[in-house]
Amino acid sequence: MTDTLGLKAKLGLNVFKPNEHRHITIKPGREKDPRLKRAVLVCPAGLYTVTQADEVELTIDGCLECGTCRIACGTDVLDWDYPPGGTGIQYRFG
Ligand code: SF4
Repeated sequence: MTDTLGLKAKLGLNVFKPNEHRHITIKPGREKDPRLKRAVLVCPAGLYTVTQADEVELTIDGCLECGTCRIACGTDVLDWDYPPGGTGIQYRFG
């Protein structure tokens, strides 16, 4: 079988079940911390962005729960946990 799907198409096959618990949050006052910019570079789902005010923002929908941002940025700037059971990512492509 040839692999004809690109990364975005593969990610689009996953299902994300939202919940009220935001399992990753940027700690208050840390939005401009330089360590957060690492997440912009390494998040495989592209969920971190830098605003015009040079603050890092996180959109949690579509999180792959890979933990890369936690390792790259550290827990000084991020609160990181898994979402409650039955919510979050459901992989559809292996
Ligand atoms: S856990 Fe992975 S997919 Fe989710 S925000 Fe962090 S780096 Fe991105």
